[in-house]
This record gives sequence, structure tokens and C-alpha cells, in this order.
Amino acid sequence: MAFKLPELPYAYDALAPHIDAKTMEIHHTKHHNGYTTKLNNAIAGTDLEGKSIEDILASISSASTGVRNNGGGFYNHSLFWTVMSPDGGGEPGARTNIHKAIMRDFGSFENFKNEFAAAAKTRFGSGWAWLCVDKDDKLFVCSTPNQDNPLMDINDHNGTPILGLDVWEHAYYLNYQNRRPDYVEAFFNVINWKEVTQRYNDANDGASDF
Ligand code: MN
Repeated sequence: MAFKLPELPYAYDALAPHIDAKTMEIHHTKHHNGYTTKLNNAIAGTDLEGKSIEDILASISSASTGVRNNGGGFYNHSLFWTVMSPDGGGEPGARTNIHKAIMRDFGSFENFKNEFAAAAKTRFGSGWAWLCVDKDDKLFVCSTPNQDNPLMDINDHNGTPILGLDVWEHAYYLNYQNRRPDYVEAFFNVINWKEVTQRYNDANDGASDF
């Protein structure tokens, strides 16, 4: 019924030294837990109760600010934990669809990395950087403020997010202080490309362009 805080698929210290255990624990048990509780409170007794989070986000323009902020916070963090792994990093395998799509839409992995990192580093204030699949199955990079995301019907360019990076200070301040660029670079060492590939294939409805 109500939305539930998902368990992390690894221990709090599993992503160290790239993301430290204390940051992970506070981020999950305080921040993500808070968004989850407040989302449930915000939809209780409304016609949004019982809807999927994706359905709620797709018509967020008609919802309250509380649903927008906490629904985004619930969804964004649920995605974020899964696209990181202690076994992550590097580049996706050459035979994966996500590798082929990155080559097709960015020209090289380096180009993709630079564009994604720039989106994360230049997002002013709090927000997220995203790699998304649009309705034509093409990849694009974007960033959103606060807890907004590319599923919400409030953006110029919508898509299905398959990789997201939280650039709120709460995501990195304990270890990196004001050095967001160092945190962004470290994130590339923990990206779970297996999960991103799976999300790319799901966003394509299982159909491959390759
Ligand atoms: Mn966060």
C-alpha cells in the first residue's frame, strides 16, 4: 500500500572510499527515509494513494509541492542506490546495448562521461544529473533542480532515467566538503553498468535497435 524505503543492495561501507559509510547511512536512513514518510503522508486520503510512483510523477504538474518534492525524492534515491555497486566502474561491456547506444548517441564513452560530469558539476544548488532514454529510444543527458526528475511532466525534454547522480551537498559534504567535482569523478568508479544496461533494455521495452 504505502511506499516503503527500499533496502540498500550492499553494506553502507561497500562503496568506500568513493562514498563513505557515514554519508551512505545518513543518506539512506535519514534523507531517503524522510522523503518516503513525507510522500506517504502527502498522498494519504487523496486519489494518488495506490498509484505507482511512475504514474504520480507523470502527472506531477497537478500535484502539491509536497508530493512533487517527496515523490521525486523517493523515486530518485530508489534509483540511485541501484545504479551503484562495489563491483562497478569502468565502461559497459562492448557487446551490451548500453555501450552501443552510448557510441551511437555520444560518439565515444569519453564524450558521454564529459557531458554527464558537466551536467552534474554545473547544476547550481541542489539537484541531479541524469542519463535518460527518450521516446525515440535515444540517450540524452540532462540535470534537474531539487528532487525533480525527467519523468515529471514539467520538463522541456522528458525521458526515462537509467542513471542518476545526486549532487545535493548531503550526498558528499562529509567526505568532499565543497569539492563536488571530486565526488562526481569518484562516482564513475562505482557505476553499476549491469543495472544501467538492464534499465536501458527495459526502457526500450525489450526491443533492441542493434
Ligand atoms: Mn539525496
